[in-house]
Amino acid sequence: MSSVQIQCTRCKNVFRDRAGRLQDGYSRQCPSCEVVLFFAEDSQHPFIKRAMRNARQARKEMRELQAAKLATPEPEAVQSRRFAGRTRSAARED
Ligand SMILES: [Zn+2]
Repeated sequence: MSSVQIQCTRCKNVFRDRAGRLQDGYSRQCPSCEVVLFFAEDSQHPFIKRAMRNARQARKEMRELQAAKLATPEPEAVQSRRFAGRTRSAARED
């Protein structure tokens, strides 16, 4: 499942949430300062706007990926898993 970065509008903490959930009308608490962030398509806040845009993009890519997966099985699953492990140690994912 694809996730996108969200930056808290209050404490500026960066965390992640699933792209599938990040839609108009969605709200969630910041894990750091516990302020509730509201996600709306007409939000004026640049952090919210960016998160919404990234989520929309990620959902589009997921759809395209699924369409591609139906056409071809994935022969490079082992290789991509090794890369994912390396990037996870560099950038924290919480
Ligand atoms: Zn916060």
